[in-house]
Amino acid sequence: MATPIPIEEVRALVEDYPRTPVIATVGSHSALDVADGAVTEKFPSLVLAQEGREATYARYFRTVRTPGGLRRRGCVDEVWTYPKFADLAQHESQERLRRHGALLVPNRALSSYVPLPTIENELRVPIVGSRAMLRIEERTERENYYSLLEAAGIPIPRRIASPDAIDTLAIVKLPHAQRRLERGFFTAATPAEYHRKSEQLLTRGTISADDLATARIEEYVLGPVFNFNFFFSPLPPRSEGLEILGVDERRESNLDGLVRLPAAQQLELSESARIPEYTVVGHGTLTVRESILEDVFRIGEKFVDAARARYPPGILGAFCLQTCLDHDGRPVVFDVAARIGGGTNIHLGLGHPYGTALYREPMSTGRRIALEIRHALDLGRLKEILT
Ligand code: AMP
Repeated sequence: MATPIPIEEVRALVEDYPRTPVIATVGSHSALDVADGAVTEKFPSLVLAQEGREATYARYFRTVRTPGGLRRRGCVDEVWTYPKFADLAQHESQERLRRHGALLVPNRALSSYVPLPTIENELRVPIVGSRAMLRIEERTERENYYSLLEAAGIPIPRRIASPDAIDTLAIVKLPHAQRRLERGFFTAATPAEYHRKSEQLLTRGTISADDLATARIEEYVLGPVFNFNFFFSPLPPRSEGLEILGVDERRESNLDGLVRLPAAQQLELSESARIPEYTVVGHGTLTVRESILEDVFRIGEKFVDAARARYPPGILGAFCLQTCLDHDGRPVVFDVAARIGGGTNIHLGLGHPYGTALYREPMSTGRRIALEIRHALDLGRLKEILT
């Protein structure tokens, strides 16, 4: 059976790397933030794109230099395209990445488009982050982010054992039947509503019976969504390791479209059109009431400690805890990204409010990642931030 690449083996790869590594990431999700941060910290940036999906990077944000070599515009220095994203893990592609000195910043595009066993067992390119924790995002895994959050003592939405046990407003979490990376979520407040809505969604082809059978049902937390973008560094003393860089919220289609309709118009829609979909199409920025911040830090610290115990060396670098704030303003974590979150582009180039307050200059997540690499290089401790 294939086994995960030993961490020492990955870390040893950088011994043959050029002096200045290249910050690489998969071209989707948060790649612009990573590229922008890389070049701000004077690293070359490399985006790994899929043919037909490269224009944003290869054309619109590509680095253009003056004849003298100065950056005139853009932040994507190089784009390598592959027929499929997963091809970046082929033997020759890996070799090319290593020769180039690539440090790979993992994002959701990497863990969605390159199979997790390939990332864990075959991808011999150093990852700036927590390779072994990418899998916990899969809700269908037995060991997933819910078990980690529970072990950490972090509040999560109450699990509801079965459709017939629904006794409050609940959310049913399963993938979209056709667009597998999207959601086929729906809400129900009673078993009867569950059965009625699931029938409609099955007929519509939004969800499949197999996914429905294994869906997680949990209490719907009535409250605004705050996605906390954290950063954890193993370089300073533990007490200084955790930072909150910024907070984002999402725009979801067609949920947000429905919410923008006055109630009278919502009620005029057909019953099935009233069931929203949760396809993330963009993000906005938020700050949190200051008296809540300490609670958020407490949760972040618990997450770091639990991750260290369960998945050594634990969480490294950027991660995101997605929360709803309940009626008491308590964050309840309903999802985790054990890598850069999907909403960090909100502060691309500008810096996050909290990150900037901390660093006294514009600090986006992408820049913070590059700064971490810079610090680690200066300290001769690069290996400690790689897995
Ligand atoms: P996720 O796929 O976990 O990122 O969730 C997608 C969306 O579903 C979130 O942005 C929330 O709006 C919503 N959501 C997920 N879980 C809950 C919950 N337990 N309570 C309320 N809203 C939720």
